[in-house]
Amino acid sequence: MNTPRLEIDCAKIAANAKLLINTLKPYGIDIVPVTKVFMGHPEIAASLISSGVKMLADSRIENIERMRHAGITVPMMLIRTPMLSQVDRVVLSCEVSLNTELVIIRALSKAAKNMGYYHGVIVMVELGDLREGVMPEQLLSIISETLMLPNIIFKGIGANLTCRYGVAPEQDNMNFLAKLVKDVEQQLGISAEIVSGGNSANLIWAFSLNPHQSHVVNQLRLGEAVYFGVEALNKHPIAGGHTEIVTLVAEVIESNIKPSLPWGRRCANAFGEMPEVIDKGQVKQALLALGRQDINPSGIIPPQGLTIISSNSDHIVVESVGEALQVGQEVRFNLDYSGLLTAMTSPYVKKYFYH
Ligand SMILES: *Cc1c(COP(=O)(O)O)cnc(C)c1O
Repeated sequence: MNTPRLEIDCAKIAANAKLLINTLKPYGIDIVPVTKVFMGHPEIAASLISSGVKMLADSRIENIERMRHAGITVPMMLIRTPMLSQVDRVVLSCEVSLNTELVIIRALSKAAKNMGYYHGVIVMVELGDLREGVMPEQLLSIISETLMLPNIIFKGIGANLTCRYGVAPEQDNMNFLAKLVKDVEQQLGISAEIVSGGNSANLIWAFSLNPHQSHVVNQLRLGEAVYFGVEALNKHPIAGGHTEIVTLVAEVIESNIKPSLPWGRRCANAFGEMPEVIDKGQVKQALLALGRQDINPSGIIPPQGLTIISSNSDHIVVESVGEALQVGQEVRFNLDYSGLLTAMTSPYVKKYFYH
């Protein structure tokens, strides 16, 4: 088999999606799985749909188009505000998009009208993490403008926390969101079909809700929770979820006993770094055919007994405390979100899907 490669257990992904659908149902919350970390891979989309999800989301139009071309027909939501230069493609492939700019919503309206399509708009509101979202005091006016645009269907209100500054979704900010929604609904005499409350960092808050009451937030957009079986705030496992779904396999191309101290006059390395070196005497060192062109080295977790010492474009240097690695031997790594994101995005890393 090819190395480096990702081995992806689609059955576990489907099981996690099903678990999240069922555990969030009592709170009146639908999940929309986010496919961006898998670049909208149709195998992942198909697994998610088999688990019963009704809609998929991605941040990039290319990924959504890829799923469309592969025959995926469920409604699609673009979760990064559309580029002005891509509104035609967005209207063509997506039922809904998350939006923060009136100029873009107007362009979506124009594109939709030209093509004879209708496009759903969710307006994102800023709750303090300072990434996407209109300021709360602008929400009413942007929605009332949106309601007047032809071929645009106002779908609801959304928010996103944690991604930039790590601001946690809690009772305070989520209650504030609910109040904003109620105010808008009252003042404009409308009802928001979707209140998209956040991402995998919202799960602790969601599970703290009273399942017997009705809640304003009725949707979460979930990536990490589905693919890693954790809530994203503290990375605690979700009860009953699968946490080890993707494995990265790399191959040993050199194995040697070498001194741990370099010799010769040292300057900055190929990446402008001058890492400190600790003298450990002779070490069992191996080179893996895996580098920064394949993965973010800080996003991969080596097996017991192996330590990642250094990395460059084409190599990961590891030291082993146990038996020395053999040339040709395969080494298996776990990944975190950034490891998966970078490995998926590298054309050098082959992808294998298991069912
Ligand atoms: C990536 C993304 C998500 C999913 O985030 P996870 O932490 O992986 O659940 C949700 N919403 C938006 C706007 C995103 O960009």
